[in-house]
Order: sequence, then C-alpha cells, then structure tokens
Amino acid sequence: MTVVAPELSPAMLARQAEFPILKQPIRGQRLVYLDNGATTQKPQVVIDAERDFYERSNANIHRGVHWLSQHATDLYDQARVTVQKFLHAARPEEIVFTRGTTEAINMVAYCWGMSNLKQGDEILLTELEHHSNIVPWQFVAQHTGALIKVVPVLDSGELDLTAFQALLSERTRLLAMNHVSNALGTVNPIQAMTRAAQAVGAKVLIDGAQAVAHAVVDVQAIGCDFYVFSAHKLYGPTGMGALYARYDILDGMVPWMGGGDMIQTVSFEGSTYAPVPQRFEAGTPNIAGTIAMAAAIDYVQEVGLEAIAQHEHDLLTYATAALLDIKGLRIIGTGPHKAAIASFMLDDIHPHDLGTILDMDGIAIRAGHHCAMPLMTRLGLPATARASFALYNNTADVDALVAGIYKAKKLFGVG
Ligand code: PMP
Repeated sequence: MTVVAPELSPAMLARQAEFPILKQPIRGQRLVYLDNGATTQKPQVVIDAERDFYERSNANIHRGVHWLSQHATDLYDQARVTVQKFLHAARPEEIVFTRGTTEAINMVAYCWGMSNLKQGDEILLTELEHHSNIVPWQFVAQHTGALIKVVPVLDSGELDLTAFQALLSERTRLLAMNHVSNALGTVNPIQAMTRAAQAVGAKVLIDGAQAVAHAVVDVQAIGCDFYVFSAHKLYGPTGMGALYARYDILDGMVPWMGGGDMIQTVSFEGSTYAPVPQRFEAGTPNIAGTIAMAAAIDYVQEVGLEAIAQHEHDLLTYATAALLDIKGLRIIGTGPHKAAIASFMLDDIHPHDLGTILDMDGIAIRAGHHCAMPLMTRLGLPATARASFALYNNTADVDALVAGIYKAKKLFGVG
C-alpha cells in the first residue's frame, strides 16, 4: 500500500534552516533527528540569546546596585513574565524557575507534600508516569505514611477513566499525572481529570514535559494547582524549567533549600523568608539559561503553537500509516489523541538493536523503557523503539526512518 505524504506548510518546512545542528552530518549522512521526546535541538536565536547574555549582560541578579546587575535582573524578571504568559498563569509570582521538570516535581513533593500529607492520605498517580513523577512521591509516602494509588492504563495506552473515578475518594489528596505520555504519546484528558480530582478535595499536579512544545497550555483553563515543564524539550537550554503553582498554594509552601536570595532577614537565632517565588530560588540561579528559555518560548510563539501542532499531527499521521505498512511492526499506544510520538516494536528485534542499526544511517531514535518501567511492565515489554517529532521534522525524515527499518529487517533476516 502506498501511503500518501501530507502537504506540509512551506513556512514550517523552512524552519529547519534555523537549527544549526541539523546541518551537521552524522556518520557522513544527513542527520534524521527523531529523538525530540528526549530533548529538542536549539534554534540559532536561543543559542544567540545565551551567548549574548554572557557577551553583553552578565552580572549577578538582585544584589547589585550597578547597571549590569540591574540589567541582568530586568532580563531575569522579564523571563518570568514570559513564562507566566506562556502558561497563562494569573501572575508572574506563580512561576518558580527550576532545573527542569524533575526538580519542579521534587520541589512540590518536598515543599508541599511532606508537610501537607499524612498517614492514610492517598496520592494518585497513573501507570503512564515517568519515573520523575513516581519516585518523589515514594519519598513522600515513606516519610508521611501516605499511600500511593495508581490509575491503570488500557491496552490502547489510554487511561482507564472508569477505574480513575473509582479510585477517587475523600482520601485522595493529590493527583499527579502527565499531560502527554513520553513513552506512548497519549494525550490525557487532564482538564476533566483535574475537575474530578478537585471535586473530592485533591490538589492536582500536571507534568507538562511532553506537552508544552506541542500545544497551547493554559493552566487557568486546565484549573490545575501545579504544572511543570523542562526548557530543553521546548527548544531551550538544558538544566532549566519551571514550576507553576497557584499563588495561594505556593505562598503556603515551606522552602526546601536555604541560602542567599530566598531570605528576608538572617540571624543566628532564626531567619525569615523572602516572598514567593524567591523563597524557592535559593542561590545564584542559571541566569543565562533562564533568559535562553524565554527566548525559546518567544521562538515557539513566533512559529505558532497551533501551526506546530498541525505540522506534527500531519507528520505523526503519515508516520503511523507508513510504519503500520511494515510487516511485523506494531505501534504501542493507539489511542485517538496522541502528540508527536510513535512508539513501536518490530518483529522480535530488540529496540536497542534497531536503534543501533538506524544510527549507522544517521537516524536518531530512542530505544528503551523511556523512564517508565511500570508502564513497560504493564505492557509486558522490555522496551520500545520511539520516534518523536518536532517542528523541524519533515516527511523525508519519516521516509528515512521507514527505509532504515526495512534495512534492519533485511539484516536481521526478517525481511
Ligand atoms: N516527565 C516526562 C513526561 C518526561 O518526558 C521527562 C523527560 N523525559 C521528564 C518528566 C523529566 O524531565 P527532565 O529530565 O527534563 O527533568
């Protein structure tokens, strides 16, 4: 069967030229980068923003009376407003800069979970979670005596919403779940699930690591209490991200890291803390990274998240049809709502072997458990191969992947 390639927007296709790394051959061949779920490549404007900061604006923030320090502080404060508007938070004070999704979840676990949960309380997770949204809650459970409950996943990779409803009770104090599954690409019905969890009095944390680069996110429309993401999956720098927390909740949270910048007064008898969000940003932060993260947000907004979503949807539809056309290939995660991720198994070839063979042709995919071991156990798989898309991918990338898979089948004698 011939799978017809979609007509992609020429404006979107032209964006590839803005990513310097994509011009670099890998193993002497054109780089086909399909590991965007792990991290995205960076456009020149983001690289320039980080370099420009060091070339023209570098100084420590908040503490200086001199021009450069005030200038750097202004840039840092503007970056917070950029993130606020990006997530449609009500006020900039609701945004805490973090090292990424992992740190943001741990911050909520330590600064909210440790002091608000107690024996008998329940933390509701889902079978789709990344380890970073499981392990911090195990710390909290061990420390407080709270119990972890898990929303099961259906064979399609969608959450079992009937089971979810049945798990909710007045004991549920927190629902912590991802917006989009990094392993399967399932887009979860977070708005409805948030409402249902809040109706029994629970707080809701949404892990948006795999969502923010693929769709418009509006935390007020979702209604969640916490939303977290990483900049590096959003065309921004590594080691940067943010926590959104509703102001009243953030204001009631206890700090976990002490040091400079998070205090109001310090004496040996005791200290008082700065208002939020500074209370949660002890020490000199990644100032250049924060500014580069804001540049990445400006970039995706300039490209347009609706346009990105359409482009990636067309690519994913094309890739899914082309992959399913390969004998012995099975897509893992077949729900109707998916974002930019195709996870699959090929005959009985181990995904690691497939990934290694594709790499010989400059094709970068991910093979493994995707930091979602409980999900792999549920699906009865050791690992999957995962191709994940970004705004700079095109149908030639999908065609290269498909050709690479046929080559691997030949090599393994399953052609
Ligand atoms: N949650 C999800 C859904 C993810 O995909 C990832 C990254 N793979 C994380 C959390 C962790 O993000 P980071 O490593 O940037 O903190």
